[in-house]
Amino acid sequence: METVVVAVLDGRPDWMDQGACIGHPLELWFPPPGRVSDGNIAKRICHNCPVQQLCLDYAMTFGPRGLAGIWGGMSERQRIHIYRNRRLLNSK
Ligand code: SF4
Repeated sequence: METVVVAVLDGRPDWMDQGACIGHPLELWFPPPGRVSDGNIAKRICHNCPVQQLCLDYAMTFGPRGLAGIWGGMSERQRIHIYRNRRLLNSK
């Protein structure tokens, strides 16, 4: 996990500066361990973000479990679901 975080920060894309999440508490997207959150506040902010698709695409490049938290308005579980659906589509 630490390696991924470092990789993300080292290669921080420019579009991140346009994220609607800027200025909001980071824990809305990355709840601290042991804290239960459905992420709905973060997801609502993401859905009005001008770079939502770029953000989701970026997270998907790290694989189904590559990044924790909410990216592009989707939780890790939702991104895994997308991966599975894409794999199913590609296998047909
Ligand atoms: S989609 Fe969400 S997490 Fe991604 S940059 Fe926008 S507000 Fe931030």
